[in-house]
Amino acid sequence: MTDSSHSSKERSLQTRIVHPEDKLTPGFQSFSVPVARASTVVFPDLATMRALVWHDDSQWRYGLHATPTSLALAQRLAVIEGGQHALLQPSGLSAISNVYFALVKSGDHVLIPDNAYSPNREHADWLAEDFGLEVTYYDPLIGAGIEALIQPNTKLIWLEAPGSVTMEVQDVPAITQIARSHQVLSAIDNTYSAGLAFKPFEHGVDISVQALTKYQSGGSDILMGAIITADKNLHARLKRARMRMGLGVSSDDCSLVLRSLPSMKIRFDAHDRTALSLARWLKTRPEITTVLHPALPDCPGHMFFERDFTGAGGLFSMVFDKRYSPAQIDTFVEALENFAIGWSWGGANSLAMPYNIKSMRTANVWPHEGVLVRLYIGLEDEADLRADLERALDGLSG
Ligand SMILES: *Cc1c(COP(=O)(O)O)cnc(C)c1O
Repeated sequence: MTDSSHSSKERSLQTRIVHPEDKLTPGFQSFSVPVARASTVVFPDLATMRALVWHDDSQWRYGLHATPTSLALAQRLAVIEGGQHALLQPSGLSAISNVYFALVKSGDHVLIPDNAYSPNREHADWLAEDFGLEVTYYDPLIGAGIEALIQPNTKLIWLEAPGSVTMEVQDVPAITQIARSHQVLSAIDNTYSAGLAFKPFEHGVDISVQALTKYQSGGSDILMGAIITADKNLHARLKRARMRMGLGVSSDDCSLVLRSLPSMKIRFDAHDRTALSLARWLKTRPEITTVLHPALPDCPGHMFFERDFTGAGGLFSMVFDKRYSPAQIDTFVEALENFAIGWSWGGANSLAMPYNIKSMRTANVWPHEGVLVRLYIGLEDEADLRADLERALDGLSG
């Protein structure tokens, strides 16, 4: 050929493999969000690239920051939570750590409920030890009494309702009202409610954290977190920290969470029904002194649950009579056939885990002597779970 034009037909095979000529069929529609995998995002020209504003969520900039798949998930999560903006994080814990790094610095003071998710405490203790953060743990039921703990350098108040493992329900509006009157930000770990059963922004909370690892994934196979806000400037502060730390999520994982979201409320309600029914039955058993289920009156803060929540999901705890030793309770947990031993709930499978609460507290004294076992009620048949618990409890007594 003598023609020297660079028509695509004359490009070498290798270049044509890298720059394929086929384009996806326009007009194709389905219910699923396509998985957009990207490291680099390409720009039509340099002017477009130079005009980018890093905090504008509608602009594509870099695969780590957002793809159409991750943005679709973030937007749906903001709607569920009743917020405006969401940032996706590689885990629930990384959502928590991102809140710290975005909003506090050395010399600042942070308040954390004594029943907070343990890795949050560990993170805060690490920041206190190595980075000069000042941390105070407070009685989760302190309510408006939080005011006495606010110092001139207090920048952030964490909340968690109900608290991980021990289930005390906080008076969230009482605390956030004090926080606002002192210009202190409040952040809630709202994983328990999945954003469905408690609406943090209606109760004065500034930042809501979700471990999407739980109900949003629903499959016990994804780790992801989210930070949801209703304020654009706060979102931008959190987003800047996330960019600087190089945190992002994969579109493949986002697509799996997107697949589970439509069934989340129906699953949550099913977990709720079975868990509440089993909790009521467990309360009648002589081996158990206290059932800590927020919808039952024995749970501290039950009245705040009644006032502010619309449901409970599958998680609750029970305290055994102190005549049973920790070793006996271990045997009980291991005797269960339909309850696996594991931490990360939110999937279809029931779980059981014993805890030594006294070792997890620093601010207030844990009132119970017996061992606490946290149950997560999955999607199994209720009668099978009850028979399993009954058999293991009978084994304990006799
Ligand atoms: C599981 C959980 C987290 C952390 O989620 P990961 O994705 O496992 O890091 C945070 N808070 C609560 C209340 C949780 O249950």
